[in-house]
Amino acid sequence: MDFTVLTLFPELISSFFEHGMMFRGIEKKLITGHCINIRDFSTDRHNTIDDRPYGGGSGMVMKQEPLKAAILAAKKRTPESPVVLMTPQGTRFNQEKAMTLALQNKGLIFVCGRYEGIDERITTTLVDEEISIGDYVMTGGELASMVIIDSIARLIPGVLGSPESSKSDSFTDDRLEYAQYTRPEDFEGLKVPEVLLSGNHGKINQWRKKSSLQHTFLKRPDLFKKTKLSAEEKKIIKQWCQELEILVRE
Ligand code: SAM
Repeated sequence: MDFTVLTLFPELISSFFEHGMMFRGIEKKLITGHCINIRDFSTDRHNTIDDRPYGGGSGMVMKQEPLKAAILAAKKRTPESPVVLMTPQGTRFNQEKAMTLALQNKGLIFVCGRYEGIDERITTTLVDEEISIGDYVMTGGELASMVIIDSIARLIPGVLGSPESSKSDSFTDDRLEYAQYTRPEDFEGLKVPEVLLSGNHGKINQWRKKSSLQHTFLKRPDLFKKTKLSAEEKKIIKQWCQELEILVRE
């Protein structure tokens, strides 16, 4: 998967490509990361990339010409890659969207806005999709693009150390992940659930399913309502209800 990021702050993005999972994915040649500095495409001697908004008002707007040239340069490298604009006005990003983008594309071109955003004519003529990472406004699109790239990259087979680990992640099948524990067994009197030390994989799986359902029910009731429960899961929940009833009676 090829990620190209158009930005006024390439150092923010290149340092992201140089660390952790992204770096490993690039080393294994499963990912390529490329930054384009929009300012390199400005045409005047002051390297201007923004201008005052028509109609007045505060702030500046990113100019069309350098942005268009930067997008076309990115498209020349990877013509198949859709152009994705980072904007608080876009469709809200989530795990399902991460999976769709990972499955449907060999590459993606991210446009990171700054100031009051970009000239609307670029959005309407050169942008394929507008994505927001949440209902809040940040000063630039760089963090948003990194959030999206990170969550897509870890879905690409071979990028994560353990291929199984993304399968039980939160939001897969509308569930949150089960509780996780690591050494020591006893931390200041708080013990790891016995079953996880038993080596009995059937029982461990059963415990994890229950823990995942409990997490979803308690932390994200909205997700739990959407969840389609299997017969086995319904049984687990009935058992949990019985355990709670016993506790209430005691
Ligand atoms: N004036 C714009 C508006 O109200 O819609 C907001 C511009 S914002 C200050 C500057 C840039 O940050 C945007 O062009 C966009 O690239 C990025 N940005 C801010 N919040 C974002 C969000 N929630 N998701 C994605 N990108 C965001």
